[in-house]
Amino acid sequence: MSRESKKFGVPDELANLYDFANTLDVRHFTHHGVPHPQADALTNARDLAAWMSHRGLSSISAKITPAMFATAIELRTLIRDYLQCDPLERHGNKDAIRALNRTLKLFPLLVAARDDGGMVLRAAREDALAGLSPIVAEFYDGSRDGTLDRLKMCASDECRRVFFDRSKPSTRRWCMSSLCGNRMKTRSYRERQRNAG
Ligand SMILES: [Zn+2]
Repeated sequence: MSRESKKFGVPDELANLYDFANTLDVRHFTHHGVPHPQADALTNARDLAAWMSHRGLSSISAKITPAMFATAIELRTLIRDYLQCDPLERHGNKDAIRALNRTLKLFPLLVAARDDGGMVLRAAREDALAGLSPIVAEFYDGSRDGTLDRLKMCASDECRRVFFDRSKPSTRRWCMSSLCGNRMKTRSYRERQRNAG
């Protein structure tokens, strides 16, 4: 878990997936006159190594090759593409599923018995990218218990942040209604006014 995932009430079981998807910050709205700076926390292999190590994900201290780094970024892109689809439409988005599955295949998991009881999915990879396998395991676990359907991407074009929908009916479309929701509402109101005039 991270400070962000805690702040926004993301279950610990999905925190790595949530944080990984949000290492790319494409928000570019202006709030109180201040433009939000876009950022990518993973611009090279060193960033990725630091990110995994910071989260306790790098169990194997091997070098991340440029090809591995490209695979990691591809995984992030496809995870974001998948989460961008409305949960009800995810299963129908064949292109997103096909592309995601091609990359998920590179992160095989194996079942291991835990010493404190129960079973857990572990990385079958034995190189530096094994650190991303727990993210794939969270994907699977989240789909089993239904929490993955609450992991969504903000509907605002200027935001596209991944958020966890804690609302009872699970119908939230914006990461923060007070921010992205209001901005979108104000804009469509203005557009309606303009069209009416
Ligand atoms: Zn948003």
